[in-house]
Amino acid sequence: MNRFTLQLDEIKAAYAAEPNPSLELRLERIGRIEQMISANEEKICKVLIADFGVRHPIESRLAEFQMVYQACKYTRKYLKEWMKPTLVETPFFMGASHAWTQTQSIGVVGIMSPWNYPIQLALAPAIAALAAGNRVWLKPSERSSRTSGFLAALIQEYFHPSEFCVTTGGVEVAQSFAELPFDHLFFTGSESVGKKVMRSAADHLTPITLELGGKSPAIVDLSANLKDVADSIIYGKLLNSGQTCIAPDYVLVQHSNRDALVKELQLAAHTQFNSPEELTGPIDEEQFIRWHHLVRDAVNRGAQVIPLLNTGNSQSSSFTPVALVDVPEDALIMQEEIFGPILPIIAVSDVSAAIHFINSRPNPLALYWFGKNKINMQRVLNETHSGGVAINDTLLQVAVESLPFGGIGASGMGNYHGKSGYETFSHRKSVLEVRGILGSKIFSGTKLIRPPYGKKVERLLRWLR
Ligand code: NAD
Repeated sequence: MNRFTLQLDEIKAAYAAEPNPSLELRLERIGRIEQMISANEEKICKVLIADFGVRHPIESRLAEFQMVYQACKYTRKYLKEWMKPTLVETPFFMGASHAWTQTQSIGVVGIMSPWNYPIQLALAPAIAALAAGNRVWLKPSERSSRTSGFLAALIQEYFHPSEFCVTTGGVEVAQSFAELPFDHLFFTGSESVGKKVMRSAADHLTPITLELGGKSPAIVDLSANLKDVADSIIYGKLLNSGQTCIAPDYVLVQHSNRDALVKELQLAAHTQFNSPEELTGPIDEEQFIRWHHLVRDAVNRGAQVIPLLNTGNSQSSSFTPVALVDVPEDALIMQEEIFGPILPIIAVSDVSAAIHFINSRPNPLALYWFGKNKINMQRVLNETHSGGVAINDTLLQVAVESLPFGGIGASGMGNYHGKSGYETFSHRKSVLEVRGILGSKIFSGTKLIRPPYGKKVERLLRWLR
């Protein structure tokens, strides 16, 4: 037994002593998360800056704290309702029997979170898991080490370690963590690590949620207003410098509109991200080198680079956000998730070509469609697969608590946010209470169909058909 196994046993024992926490206790735990963040906003903004180099405090408030507050607020509003049993229909031959489903906590939930929004993506699943009555053990990312360390200290201050605890560390710690027999493992991260984590979880048949990424396309229909499109795409792409799982990865636009769109994208970038404090830095040197490598590879294969901002304006790094045109399909940038301020613009002939382009690649986490032509919009909705869709803007689908958030295929499995998060971390138990008609035992339950078989059961079977 290693120290992690012993720690999990302790948390499991604490859970077993209180497997069905009251509504009040669940709400109180969620309230503690809210207090923990609101009392420490300024300090958290500082550690985020220490990790990213540049991260505007308003960006952190919008994309980290607001998402946490919203999850708390929504859960507080609906938790009582979610916890209620749901009566379901019973077949007529069961007489007065009652059937219902009731949700039940599942135990100890392991959460593995990434570095790109290190507060939101660690706490939003924790809120859902605690709301469902579970205990939580978090393993945040080592690449946002300062924020992860600070968050661990805060959680230790606000929670008993058997309620909600944190283990920090690198890949080896993460591997040992993924091997623990949790009652549910919730992983947010890359597809390649997601596969490894799923393999580890399989050894214990641990149910798993995978929140992965992928290449989320933005389709610009001929009916779209290019200025509005560019304003939205630039915001979605340059928020957190593109280090966002649902950032538009690349754009599909008709040939005739490509150059005009590029001009509008440059204008939009200048309007929104001209100040160096507004462009978040790469998380680390490795990320910075990766961005340069992706651009160099595309250029070597014939792509043309178009700066979106004036060189030297970005203090966060010497990396200037760029658009790429004439990008060949075999360029690395069209093979992997970009996760950075680089925007390939792919020219296509029509909506069918755009749909074909998307469908010949792994399913993305998000898809963006811009335009007014409802027929084309419906075609894209019906003929492509993605975790979610936003029409005529970017990113905002993640901020709607009542919409389940998750991927499909290569972009993940399972979902959370709002009620879907509560359900992910609950077991929906089916219950049948057998009752006879008008208090009579004769017609109750399996009585009429038990052996010895004969004419009576045969008649009943004919009647039931
Ligand atoms: P990552 O897969 O490198 O790391 C995620 C977590 O896995 C971290 O906690 C890390 O410690 C752990 N880990 C790393 N190597 C491991 C290993 N060999 N075995 C077990 N665990 C290991 O991902 P990242 O770089 O932190 O995040 C970027 C990726 O996450 C992108 O693909 C992005 O699209 C995706 N993402 C998805 C969402 C979503 O909600 N769907 C949100 C944010 C990021």
